Amino acid sequence: MNSNRRRFLGLAATAVPLAALGASSAWAAACYDSATLPLSQKNRRRSIGYMEAAADPARRCAGCAFFTAAEEGCGNCLMLNATVNAGASCGSFAPRGK
Ligand code: SF4
Repeated sequence: MNSNRRRFLGLAATAVPLAALGASSAWAAACYDSATLPLSQKNRRRSIGYMEAAADPARRCAGCAFFTAAEEGCGNCLMLNATVNAGASCGSFAPRGK
């Protein structure tokens, strides 16, 4: 294998995960525009420790009792009374009953 081919394969291996990361970021941002959130909503999110990406997949909004699914990847949070990302989380997470 020549060095150009090795270099190309190395770049390709790096680009695929970055592309996937970029796609998930764009997907999350489509639920709402964080730049235009009212200050009260920003404060409410801060007070409950809202995170755009759940550190623990088992505590995602999608599995929370306060979450109602809407369009793909988005939903409404009863705690915030606002749209959130299904993959987000916060300190008020409550597992959905079975
Ligand atoms: S209360 Fe539940 S649905 Fe609302 S932000 Fe927290 S984890 Fe997500």
